[in-house]
Amino acid sequence: MIGVIKEKCEGCGRILNFEDGAVKIVCVCGSTTEIKSFCQKKEYEEKKEIEKDLKVLEMSGQLWNEFIKLEIEHESETKEMEFFIHGVQGILATRIARKQNPKIFPIRG
Ligand SMILES: [Zn+2]
Repeated sequence: MIGVIKEKCEGCGRILNFEDGAVKIVCVCGSTTEIKSFCQKKEYEEKKEIEKDLKVLEMSGQLWNEFIKLEIEHESETKEMEFFIHGVQGILATRIARKQNPKIFPIRG
């Protein structure tokens, strides 16, 4: 889990809170401070990448919600749509799992 990361401002020494994927903050004193730890930066970049996957995952839910409002034209289409959306969601869930735990879900080409 990613919490708030604190770094000292390079200009005035104030404690700055890095949240919501921020890797740089402009302090009230006008100085720009970046997260220094490579691991912290990497963790933030991964979190941002996961958020992109989550956005597409959310869209798959929206697709379903809009689809079921349509008039049924064929008796099996709802079941088929459900099946394919679950497939899409499985792909996205796997992408997220790889980013969160690459040792258990390694990328194999
Ligand atoms: Zn400052």
